[in-house]
Amino acid sequence: CGIIGVTGTGPAVPRLIDSLKRLEYRGYDSAGVAALVDGRIERRRAKGKIRELEAVLAADPLEATVGIGHTRWATHGAPTEINAHPHKAGRVTLVHNGIIENFAELKAELEAAGRTFESQTDTEVVAHAIDEALTTTNDPLVAFKTVLDRLTGAYALAVLIEGEEGLIMGARRGSPLVVGWGEGEMYLGSDALAVGPFTTQISYLEEGDYVGIDRSGARMFDVDGGAVDRPVVQVSASS
Ligand code: GLU
Repeated sequence: CGIIGVTGTGPAVPRLIDSLKRLEYRGYDSAGVAALVDGRIERRRAKGKIRELEAVLAADPLEATVGIGHTRWATHGAPTEINAHPHKAGRVTLVHNGIIENFAELKAELEAAGRTFESQTDTEVVAHAIDEALTTTNDPLVAFKTVLDRLTGAYALAVLIEGEEGLIMGARRGSPLVVGWGEGEMYLGSDALAVGPFTTQISYLEEGDYVGIDRSGARMFDVDGGAVDRPVVQVSASS
């Protein structure tokens, strides 16, 4: 439903929550965040409203400068904490908007390779598939693209990888995703509103694009894997 990613030097989690609140009006059934803490990715998730997630975070805070957040509108799997995003497999943690149409086929393949799943979502297969691809390449964007090429359906994704400090990868097909440009801080969002609290400088990704952002900028690629630069546009400030 809603996606936000923040990579910078200041506290990321309050920013993720701020953004998720802007997206609340769309409706959702659960919410969650993940952040890189001392080189490890940790998650906090809750069924229900953002304020439930805030209560979880108040009891068990996450201090980090890099993180991703999501509001979920369940399509596959009941609205529970276990099915709430972010989903995690090995080094990979991600959030997803849309539907992976061929998830059952991919899941069967990954289970045959010895992987076990904790949720009923279509999304979790993408995390396992990227983690699996990272066993054959050290380049996270190459691993990501290998998996994107196998997905059918619609997605916007934001992905964190343990051992790749500061990096957030994103991709869009059938579901929008934007890159937000800040001062020493970069963002991914499901739309301009998601990054509205932080910046009005936006690059709209095109169909099939994928991207890696860190606090110094963005590397963007088109569906064929060629480097591209999507224009930075100024959107009107949202309050
Ligand atoms: N299909 C995914 C799920 O059911 C994502 C739903 C969404 O777009 O929020 O978890």
